[in-house]
Order: sequence, then structure tokens, then C-alpha cells
Amino acid sequence: MIDVPAIFAQNVFDEETMKERLPEQTYATFCDAIKNGQPLDVSVANVVADAMKDWAIEKGCTHYTHWFQPMTGVTAEKHDSFITPSDSGHVIMEFSGKELIKGEPDASSFPSGGIRATFEARGYTAWDPTSYAFVKGDTLCIPTAFMSYTGDVLDKKTPLLRSMDRLNHEAVRILHLFGKTDVTRVNANVGPEQEYFLIDRELYDRRKDLRYTGRTLFGARSPKGQQLDDHYFGAIKARVKSYMKELNEELWKLGIYSKTEHNEVAPAQHELAPIYTNVNIAADHNQLTMELMKRIAQKHGMVCLLHEKPFKGVNGSGKHNNWSLSTDTGENLLKPGKKPEENTQFLLFLSAVVKGVDEYQDLLRLSVATAGNDHRLGGDEAPPAIISMFLGDDLEQVVEAIINREEYESHGKVMMDTGAEVLPEIKKDTTDRNRTSPFAFTGNKFEFRSLGSALNISCPNIMLNTIVADALSQFADELEGKENFEQACRRLIRRTLKKHRRIIFNGDGYTDEWVEEAERRGLMNLRSTPEALKHYTDKKNIALFERNHIFSSREVHARAEILLDNYVKIINLEALTMLDMAKKDIFPNVSRFTGALSDTVKAKRAVSDTIKVDAEVALIEKLSGLLEEFSAAIATLDDEIVAASKHRNNIQRYAEYYCDHVLSTMEHLRAVSDEMEMCTASKYWPYPSYGELLFSVQ
Ligand code: ADP
Ligand code: MG
Repeated sequence: MIDVPAIFAQNVFDEETMKERLPEQTYATFCDAIKNGQPLDVSVANVVADAMKDWAIEKGCTHYTHWFQPMTGVTAEKHDSFITPSDSGHVIMEFSGKELIKGEPDASSFPSGGIRATFEARGYTAWDPTSYAFVKGDTLCIPTAFMSYTGDVLDKKTPLLRSMDRLNHEAVRILHLFGKTDVTRVNANVGPEQEYFLIDRELYDRRKDLRYTGRTLFGARSPKGQQLDDHYFGAIKARVKSYMKELNEELWKLGIYSKTEHNEVAPAQHELAPIYTNVNIAADHNQLTMELMKRIAQKHGMVCLLHEKPFKGVNGSGKHNNWSLSTDTGENLLKPGKKPEENTQFLLFLSAVVKGVDEYQDLLRLSVATAGNDHRLGGDEAPPAIISMFLGDDLEQVVEAIINREEYESHGKVMMDTGAEVLPEIKKDTTDRNRTSPFAFTGNKFEFRSLGSALNISCPNIMLNTIVADALSQFADELEGKENFEQACRRLIRRTLKKHRRIIFNGDGYTDEWVEEAERRGLMNLRSTPEALKHYTDKKNIALFERNHIFSSREVHARAEILLDNYVKIINLEALTMLDMAKKDIFPNVSRFTGALSDTVKAKRAVSDTIKVDAEVALIEKLSGLLEEFSAAIATLDDEIVAASKHRNNIQRYAEYYCDHVLSTMEHLRAVSDEMEMCTASKYWPYPSYGELLFSVQ
């Protein structure tokens, strides 16, 4: 039996541990500084650092690291040991406040989008005391922000923290207008649902594409896929179960509220959801969760794939970002209550979200844009690339009634008749779920569903926090000092909803009709990453970031460049991997198989002239034709990679070239290969098949 409450957060230097280990005065000063967002005095930091070090050493640590999230999308760490030479020629274990507060990793190899020339290698990490330090292996990890010598932001945490501050400031302003002067803090909360695949390690090792790029670049469909929907919520297999058990335990030790786990739609696909927390912690925890998912899979002879689309023709993996706002007095600002039509405060916050999402569709879209996620968005199983909002029937009627100045009365939840006496009566939600919407209101939170499984959740949340803060700030400007506050509020709500109603869509987002309808409504349909990222530096977007002190114009340009550069690198790597596989493995093996077939024909003919060889001959002809096509596609891909580099100096064009040309040739090369795979004997095919990969874990 495992005692969950006892192990929970045992590897975290959290409030409880601090209270226990810090002198009372230090603890109080520390808490005050955090609450008021003030920098910590070095003398206090020294005491905290020393207590942290003693605690970490007891947990078996010899090293510490500033743990940060550069623009690579993964977390980075540089380990230093606690040792300091002592006078006697031995060592003592030391960790100072200065080392806790600030680090100086050599930053020259982290992406900076031209902000920092390599000769200015200096980068700083700064302690984020609002996210607890924790122990991982033999290392004390200290969550930090990362910036350049010139003070430019080089990471994902700093802008996230800034956006939280903005949102807090503006939401509190609004609440004070509603007379809620006891509210001093508003937080954005996030619960990210994380999807992933588990496959057998040994099979994975035999696929270069999975090893180098995280997804299969070739592979014909397996006869059994997800057509029976028998995997979704199915019984969890023993090997997966023991993996999940260990994963949960490790997550709990790190204070991560891992709560829900189940099988997903695709074979070998699963989901984990934690209980929501404030978005800064949620982002750190999600990074840690992904890291642990991978590490623990290895121990169980499996590999965890976090790629957004590891298998063609099989559902990809996403991450649902459940987002809400709550006050330090315990109120969820997105809770409509029984009568949303009468809840002016709720309607005002709702209007702010509606306005923000409509005005900055492009920012939300580009915040989830990656080479991997492009294979999902707009596909049948993932939300469309068009950003729209689902409010549900009840709320949509409220909105319509407000716009049309009509009376409306909500019905609230109704009881559901289960038809069997032994079953309890259950309350039915006022609206069913709409799985096709990228941004859905789900009762008391918004669920942004366009995120790919591998994404760091910071970026979409920076956008969400900022666009809503900006809208609230405009609202507060307008409402402050109004004599008839309620009336002014109502007017503002009506005007806002009327202006932005085009973003609200309750229908099926997967249909072609919606694409046309969205175009008529003037909504953006940014199909690819380069198309989306082009808008990062639009004037209105830079103005938004500057106005809210999230990014400078320079930082926005740098970010766009980093993301485009990353896009090019990923597709380039995929193309090179494909060429390697095509030339060295697929072509020679298919050729060998046709050779073997030809030998069979010859041998049969030697026995007698009348023996039929039509089937073999037809197959030889088919495969030979495909091999010609295959080798022509190889040549085209080779040429295009060379041609692409001509655009090297214009990163937007460079990315567009990869998107428009290289990707489609890769698709073609794959289609030919997959057809060859279907008619090549298994023993000649150089890689484990989709069937083997997807059904390998029992
Ligand atoms: P489903 O798969 O049905 O959408 P799950 O229970 O798997 O739902 O996940 C829902 C996620 O939403 C969880 O991470 C949960 O903690 C989170 N969540 C619930 N309420 C809120 C809220 N008020 N704010 C933010 N996240 C929330
Ligand atoms: Mg969900």
C-alpha cells in the first residue's frame, strides 16, 4: 500500500517544509516578499539557501541547478555541486543566497533570435520564489527565469509571470468597481490534460524516424487501427498500469496533483490530467510531467511519444488547456451561477474573453503553431485552425438575448431520468460538450484545445492572460467614475458582445461548411505555422505586448524568428531522415525483394514453360514502377533542400519554402513508400510496421 498523503510533495521545498526549517522571522519576511511581489534581501536569501541546501543534502543531493525554460521548448539545467574547498584542503558543502537568487549560465547556444550575438554570451537566471524548489535525482532544482545581459527576455517564464501580473492588476480594478474591495489578488488557473503514446522500446530503437524526429515518416496503415473505438476508456493493460502507477508516485512526490488517467482514442494512446493550479506552477509542473513520462517509460522498456502526430491516419496527441480566473477570496470569476443573465460581473468577464479572443485570433493560433501541430490542426480529430468560441446553448441564448435586448430566463440544470430506480438521480448539464471547438466554455472555465501534446503551455497562456488583461483594462477605463455603474456595465457588455459575436460558433467545427462560413464572418484561417507566425509582428500585436509590458518590439521580432527557425530545422531534419531511410534502407530492400521475385520466376520457368508466373511478374512490374517514382521523389527532395537554402537570409520565406515545397515532396515520397510497403514481404521491409508499433505494449 502506498501512503499518498505521506509521500505527497516530499521532494518539494514547499511552504510546510520552509515553515519547519526556517527561523520564524525569516519565514515571515519571505512570505511577505512573495505576497507583495518584492525582491528578497540577500541576508534573508542566505538563510533560505542554507536551509534549502541542508534539506536537499538529506534527500541525497550533491548538486543544485537553476532550472529554466529557454526558447527551445524544453527545460534546461546546468548542474553545480555544493562543494567549496575548505582551509584544511577538504571540502564543505555550501550554497549562498547569491547562488540561489542569480545564476550565470553561458547562454550562447540558446536561441535568442538575434538578440544576443554569440560574443555576448552572458545570460542570467533569476530565482522564481513563487514556484517551489524541488529535488530530482541528486540535484536540487530551482525554478528560474532566464534573460540576456541586456535584460531581454530569453525564456517562457518571464513573460508568463508578467502576463499574470497584468491580469491580476486589471481584474482587481474591475472587481473593486463591483465593490469587492477585499479582493487583493486574481490568479489565472490552468489544468492541462496531457495526451501521449507508449510504445515498445525495442521496436522504437529500430525506427530511425522515431528516434531522430519523434514521429513516423513512413509507415502504411495497419489493418487494425482505431476503427472499433475499443481503446477509448478501455481497460488499462498491465504494463501500462504499472507505468502509470510509478509515474503517479513520482509526480505526487513532486507535489504534482496527478488526478485522472485513461486510455485515449488511438491504440497505445493515453491521457493524464492533474488538478488545476495557478498557471505559473501549472506550466512548471507540466514540463516536469512530460520529462518524467519519458524517463519512467524507459524504466518499463517503453518509450513515451509526446509528438503531436506520431502516426499518420491515427489520432494525434493534444493538450487541453483548461483556464479560469479566481480571486484570493475564493471566487471563480468564470462561474455563471444559476442565472447568468442577471450576473453582470460574470457577463463582463465573459465579454472580456470574447473580445480578446476575437481581436487576437492570430495570437492564439500562433501560440500553438509548431511543425508537429500542423499535422493535427484542421484534421478530423483536432480542432480546426480557425479560432472560434463555443459557449453552449444556454449561454449563447443569454448572449443573443442581450444583443437583441430581449428578456431571457435560464432554465438551470435539470434532473435526468435514468429510467432505473436503483440509479441515483443526476443533474444534467445545460449543454452537451462540443469536441470540435478550439475554445470551449465548459461550465466554469475555458478549454483551449488547440495545443499540441509537446507544447510548453506558457505561450498560449501568455496570450490568454494578456488579451484578457488588455480588454479588462479598457473596460475599467470606461467604467471607472461612472455614476450609474450597473447601467454603464450593461451597455458595455451589450456593445462588446454585439461587436464580437462573429467569434461565437456552436456548430460542428470539422465541416467544410464552417470553413466557408468562417470566411464569410471574416475569421482568420491560418493553416500553417509560417502563415500564423507572420502575424506575430503585426502592428496591433506589438502594440498589445508593449502596452502591457509583456514584450518589447525587439523581443517579439526575436520570438517570431526563433519559432520560424525552429520550424525550418524540424522539417529539414525530417527531410534528411527520410532521405537516409529511403536511400539506405527502403530502396535497397524493395529492390532486393523484386530481385528475389525475379529469381522465383526464373526458377519456376526452369521447371516448366507452362507454370504460371503472371502474379509474380505483375508484382515485379508494380514495384519496379513504384521504385522509379520513389527514386524520382528522392531526387526532387534532394534538390529542394538545396534550393531552400537560397532563402536562408529571409526566415519567413525560408519557412514558407519548406512548408510549400519540401513538405509536399515528403508527403509524396511517403505515399509511394507506403504503397510499396503494402506489397513487400514483411521479411524484406526494414522497419517494424504500424501494427507492431501500435499493438506492441500488452
Ligand atoms: P475532460 O477530459 O472531461 O475535459 P478532465 O477531468 O480530464 O476533463 O480534465 C479537466 C481538467 O480541467 C483538469 O485538469 C481539471 O483540474 C481542470 N479544471 C477543472 N476546473 C477548472 C477550473 N476552474 N480552472 C481551470 N482548470 C480547471
Ligand atoms: Mg478536456
